[in-house]
Amino acid sequence: MKILCIGRNYRDHATELGNAVPTEPVVFCKPDSAILQPRLPFVIPSWSQDIHHEIEWVVRIGRVGKFIEPEFAWSYVDAMTVGIDFTARDLQAKLKSQGLPWEKAKGFDGSAVLGAWIPGPIEPGHFAISLEKNGIEVQAGTTADFIFPLEQLIAHVSQYFTLKTGDLLFTGTPAGVGPVSRGDELEGKLGGKSLLRLRIR
Ligand code: ZN
Repeated sequence: MKILCIGRNYRDHATELGNAVPTEPVVFCKPDSAILQPRLPFVIPSWSQDIHHEIEWVVRIGRVGKFIEPEFAWSYVDAMTVGIDFTARDLQAKLKSQGLPWEKAKGFDGSAVLGAWIPGPIEPGHFAISLEKNGIEVQAGTTADFIFPLEQLIAHVSQYFTLKTGDLLFTGTPAGVGPVSRGDELEGKLGGKSLLRLRIR
């Protein structure tokens, strides 16, 4: 099982980090060991002083596919939820400045947090996602604002990576990313429904 992630898929988040709006999807991977087991807290790693939350709409792939045409993309989705793509922003900035891969800043243990799954079939549409930190909304967005809609994302990534049953696609984060601290409580919502609760240690 693999985790494919999209960077900079909301214009407002691309610009908040000072990045150009991309002309094709920015794609990176996390290893399966990045998945935080359900009900465990997220433990801030000792080697970072700036772990950021990124709330994202996450879809699960239900069947094998390669070179998927956009019009068939939704039929490859078998469930959806919200997830958090935890990012060590300090390490990522250092690696980016050196022109090096981001993996350590994005794929470390516990960096992929998943909410409760909403099983498919999922009707094509747009979905609102949000994140509260200690009861205050810090990120909110809708997949209607994607630079690259789901059809294009699946078509694009499947040109490079064969999609397999159980693979996950993190679809990018809206503006409002920010640091987490020990003791914070995070709550992720999809369509206003709470699917993810997480304590930071
Ligand atoms: Zn992300």
